[in-house]
Amino acid sequence: MADKKSNNRNNKKKRFNNNNSDEEFNPKFRKMRKKVCSMCANKEIVLDYKNYDQMKKFVNEKGKILPRRATGACAKHQREITQAVKRARHIAILPYTQG
Ligand SMILES: [Zn+2]
Repeated sequence: MADKKSNNRNNKKKRFNNNNSDEEFNPKFRKMRKKVCSMCANKEIVLDYKNYDQMKKFVNEKGKILPRRATGACAKHQREITQAVKRARHIAILPYTQG
């Protein structure tokens, strides 16, 4: 039982992504949680490129725009986010790069 699961390589170094089961790793068995775009769900949210507190949620610590899988936005709103972040960079609200 244990001989198949524990590879000799991984015995010494414990890796942080060493999940105990294949279920989380295999996309076939991953739980499909329906992600709803926050801006589609709540129409009151208006993307404002002059709003720093809103804009900083869409970039990582390096200043890169987060992908859809991180923002949870739909394609339409992700495009708007991208445009807004670029506008915010242009008027020096967000950095082009950091760190
Ligand atoms: Zn949306």
